[in-house]
Amino acid sequence: MIVAVLSDIHANLEALESVLADCEREGAEQYWCLGDVVGYGADPDAVVDRVRALCAPTVAGNHDWAACGQTSTRHFNRHAAYAAEWTANHMRPENLDWLRALPLIERREGVLLVHATPSDPAAWHYCMQVDDALDEMEAFREDMCLIGHSHVPGAFERHDEDVRYTRAEELVMRPGRRYLVNVGSVGQPRDKDARAAYLLFDTVENRLRHVRVPYNVARAQEKIIAAGLPPWLASRLAAGD
Ligand code: ZN
Repeated sequence: MIVAVLSDIHANLEALESVLADCEREGAEQYWCLGDVVGYGADPDAVVDRVRALCAPTVAGNHDWAACGQTSTRHFNRHAAYAAEWTANHMRPENLDWLRALPLIERREGVLLVHATPSDPAAWHYCMQVDDALDEMEAFREDMCLIGHSHVPGAFERHDEDVRYTRAEELVMRPGRRYLVNVGSVGQPRDKDARAAYLLFDTVENRLRHVRVPYNVARAQEKIIAAGLPPWLASRLAAGD
């Protein structure tokens, strides 16, 4: 089975639609979503509608829970906090209820799915270093955990006590090894590449592929400006940071 794993869409409808068209070309049969469906972008309802119709499961991200008042915006920078408040005021109540009900952790096909870290999903920590990855791998039993949150696609591969980090486009899972894989961000990439990012997972071949998809960045930027959201949220899309 081919699974498309999407994360950190951040209410960017242009990026999501381009990614979904690509997933269809690639023959995706299932869609998993690792959270941060909303926050930052100008189309929270339209994006939630698409995700609700397509993705199962979807786990909660910090921006999803911030928009519906389920987690504090204390650790958000002021632009992110403003965007969370804007999002809360511009969504249909039933979509906010859907965000509120999202679980923190799911399992599918022997894979753990979580937005931030498996050890403490509601603390919204970042897993960026090899030492963090080694600790996080003690917190789950599955061969693989898929995460988002940092908006930087990449993978930690563990063999005994040895962990290495790779940003290779393709990865084939090997028996006896364990994986913590960040699928990157559909709607706000932060690795200096403006193209939308997602992951294709072939559950039969145990093969992972990081995919990049160009989309209409200018249109997404225009909508952010027109909505009165902070201009920095528009400019960073073109820079991919
Ligand atoms: Zn995010």
